Amino acid sequence: MSANPRIGVLGAGGRMGRILIQAVQQAGYQLAAAVERPESSLVGADAGEIVGIGAVGVKVVGNLEEVLKDCDVVIDFTAPVATAHHLELCRKAGVAIVIGTTGMNDEQKAHLDETAQHTPVVYAANYSVGVNVSIKLLELASKVFGDTVDIEVIEAHHRHKVDAPSGTALMMGEAIADALGRDLKQDAVYCREGHTGPRERQSIGFQTIRGGDIVGEHTVMFIGEGERVEITHKATNRMNFASGAVRAAAWVVGRDARKYDMKDVLGFNDIQF
Ligand code: NAD
Repeated sequence: MSANPRIGVLGAGGRMGRILIQAVQQAGYQLAAAVERPESSLVGADAGEIVGIGAVGVKVVGNLEEVLKDCDVVIDFTAPVATAHHLELCRKAGVAIVIGTTGMNDEQKAHLDETAQHTPVVYAANYSVGVNVSIKLLELASKVFGDTVDIEVIEAHHRHKVDAPSGTALMMGEAIADALGRDLKQDAVYCREGHTGPRERQSIGFQTIRGGDIVGEHTVMFIGEGERVEITHKATNRMNFASGAVRAAAWVVGRDARKYDMKDVLGFNDIQF
C-alpha cells in the first residue's frame, strides 16, 4: 500500500467519476489526472471546478496516454469498451488499474483476466466496504446456522431501478448459497403468491421493494425458532462505492501483477472463522 499514491480518475465527468474526484481529495491522496472522452465539453476544465470543490490544478484531458506517466494507479468507472482500451494502455505502461465498470461481456472479462497477468488489476462489481463486510458476516451466519433457519433477502431501491432483485441482493444470495453448499439457481424463490404450500427449508427467498428515492437497502433475515438475526446494509449515497475504490487504489500500488478483488483489499482472506 502506498502512503500517498498518485491517482488518475477515468470518466471524470460521470456520476461516479465526479464523486471519485472528491473521494481522492477527501482521502488526502494526490489527484494526478482526470480523463474524459476526447469530445467531452469538460476537457480543459479544472477537475475540482467541475465537482464544485474549487480548483485543484488538474485539467481534464481527453486521452489517458497523455497523463498515464503521472499516475501510480487509475480508477476506471466508465463503460466496457472504454475500459478495454484503458486496460491495454495500463498494461503497456505497467500502471495498476481499479475497475468498477459493470456489464462487460465474456470476451472483455477474458481480456481483463489476461491483462492482470502483466499489471495489477482490481475488479469488483461492488466497491462498498459496507456491502463487502455485510457479505462476510452473511457467510459467517450461514455457516453457523446451517440448515436450522429460514433465510430471506429483502432489498429496497428507488422507483427508477429497472432490474430486480438487485445485483447486490444476488451477490448476497450467492455468498449464502456457497457457504451452505446450496445452488442459488435451484433454491432461490423470487416471489410468492397464492397457494404456495409450506416453505422449504433450503429456499433462499428474495423480496423486492421499489419506491421514491431509496438509494439501496439490503436486509438478510436468518429466521429460527424463537429468534431471528437480521444483517442490514443501508446506502445513503454513492460515496460508499467511491471511497471503497479509492481504498483499493491505494492498496494495489506496488503489488504483483494479478487480478484482485475487495476480499483481497479488505484482507478477508486472512480472517479465519
Ligand atoms: P456515467 O455514464 O455517469 O459515467 C461514465 C463516464 O465515463 C461518462 O462521463 C463518460 O463520458 C465517460 N467515458 C466514456 N468513455 C470514456 C473514455 N474512453 N475515456 C474517458 N471517459 C469515458 O456512469 P456512472 O453511473 O458513473 O457508472 C459508470 C460505471 O460504473 C457503470 O458501468 C456502472 O455500472 C459502474 N458502477 C460500478 C459500481 C461498483 O461498485 N463496481 C458502482 C457504481 C457504478
